[in-house]
Formats: sequence, structure tokens, C-alpha cells
Amino acid sequence: MRHLLRSLLLSLLLCLSPPLRAAPEAIADGVYLLRGHFEPGRQPDGNSVLLRGSEGWVLIDSGRHRAHTQQLLDFTAGDLKAVVNTHWHLDHLGGNAWLRERQPGLLVYASAEVERALAGWLAQTRRQMQALVDDGKTPEAARAQMRIDLDLLAQGAALLPDRRIEAPLSALAPAGRALRLGLESGVSGGDVWVLDEASGTLIAGDLLTLPVPFLDTACAEAWSAALRRLEVQPFERLVPGHGPVLDRAGLRRYRRAFDGLLACAAGDRPVADCAAAWLSDLDGLIAEADKPRTLGLLSYYFKAHLRAAPEQRLRFCAAPP
Ligand SMILES: [Zn+2]
Repeated sequence: MRHLLRSLLLSLLLCLSPPLRAAPEAIADGVYLLRGHFEPGRQPDGNSVLLRGSEGWVLIDSGRHRAHTQQLLDFTAGDLKAVVNTHWHLDHLGGNAWLRERQPGLLVYASAEVERALAGWLAQTRRQMQALVDDGKTPEAARAQMRIDLDLLAQGAALLPDRRIEAPLSALAPAGRALRLGLESGVSGGDVWVLDEASGTLIAGDLLTLPVPFLDTACAEAWSAALRRLEVQPFERLVPGHGPVLDRAGLRRYRRAFDGLLACAAGDRPVADCAAAWLSDLDGLIAEADKPRTLGLLSYYFKAHLRAAPEQRLRFCAAPP
């Protein structure tokens, strides 16, 4: 329960920018990005990417809020053929049920970890949220937020993939668009990245998040190793789960900054020093408007994760069964 309240408070901290309802924008030939955003008092949507195949559209990540998912549907105008979910967090997968309802025949690909999370972590979160919604003391604004996720979780079966991504590396061509896929475990236990071969666009999901790494269900060491493997992929631009599009140099800097942050957290320097180093390492990649929140976010993750007791810090490090 306390974890959930902390997450809700964190989500309020994460309200980085005013509502922005821009349409998907072209970032390469046949590649369109619908930016995820944090609106005041709302949980986030992750970035979504649409790829134009010879037989229709492929979507990477379906968002959480109806407005985000509907924009993707409107843009693809009845020709959405497949969805790949990078991982099971609801800001990347919550829109699956709505998409299936509106687009019959849709084929959804995701890791087997989605099923495990729905039966485990998400089932537990659902019970906690329901108790808070039923509790008269919970503020209405927080209850309204939780009802959005409860509605999504009530459609559990429609969130599941039709095809599981299980190999560390695989190739797919949904709707005729050639994709290379990788499976990692650093952020959520089952983190899929997608390389669009035609455009050299690497869609990394939450293996890269800005303005800070979102460590809620992460194993930091496995995340660091995943970043090293991402770096050797042949890409020109990288779309993170949250934040702006990066080039190769951007990923290199992010990885170094990430490892620097872990090293700093392992020592005894004040979190403010580690946050200052993070900001300086990523100068130019973190929007001015987000900088003041970075210390607050990192303070939270130091306490809840990076400097927590080993059983807390390492609880997502066990290999999936
Ligand atoms: Zn996310």
C-alpha cells in the first residue's frame, strides 16, 4: 500500500509538461512518433512508434490513456495490423484492449513476462488500488487516476500477446516491415527492443528513459548490461520509452551517465552530488524544464531502490523462471 502511494506521489512529481496533443510526427521514412507525455495529475503514456509496412501499419507500444491510443487508431485509419509491446508497464501496453476492440484481426507480440506480471505484480497492484478507491479517505483526484488503471486491468486477457517473443534475438516482418527484436530483462523482467531495419530506428522502450532511469521494477546491473548490448546495434536514431529521440552519441552518453549514477549510488556521496553529475553528463539531452525535478526523482530512486537494503534493491534481479 505504501509503495502504491509513493508511486502516486511520484507520478505527480513526474508532471513535467502541460497537455500536448500533437499528432504523430515523421522521424524517418515510414516511421512516425507519437510522443508520450505527463499531464498534471495524470500517470504517463510512453512514446509510441508507428511503422508503415507494405501491408499496413505496425505499432510499437499502445499507451495508457484512451486519448493517446485513439490518436494512434485515427492515424492508421483502419489499417493497423500488428502491435509490439516493449514491456508490461501500463503506459506501454494499456491501450491493447481498446485497439483490439476497434481493429479486428490485430496481432499482438510481447514477451512472456506480460502474463507473469498480470498474474503477479499487476494483480497485487490491482488489489491495492481497489482498496484505496474503496477507502473514503483517498482523495478523489487520486481515485480517478487509479480507476483508469483498474479499468485497463479489468480487461486483462485483451492485454496479453497473441505471439510471445522468447528468444534473446529474433526477426519478424509484421505487415511486411522487417524488424529485428531483442529481449532483455533489466527494466521489467521482459524488455523488448525493436530495430526497424529499413530506417535504422531503434525503439528501446524503457531501456532508456529521461529525465532519469525509471527504476521501479528494475535490476540496475542487468539494465546496464542491456545498454551495452544496445550500443552495438546498427541504428541511426533511438526512440526511448520516455524522452526525446537520440543519436548514437546520445546512447553512449546515456550509458556512461547510467553507470556513473550506479557507481555514485554505491558510494557515500550525497544524492545531490550524484544528481549534479547525472545532469552534467547528459547536458543537452534533458530539457531545461525537467532539470529542477531531476534531484527529486533521483532522491526517490536512491531511497526506494539504489540505496535500499539489498533484498529491496535486488528483488527484480532474479532470472525469470
Ligand atoms: Zn514507461
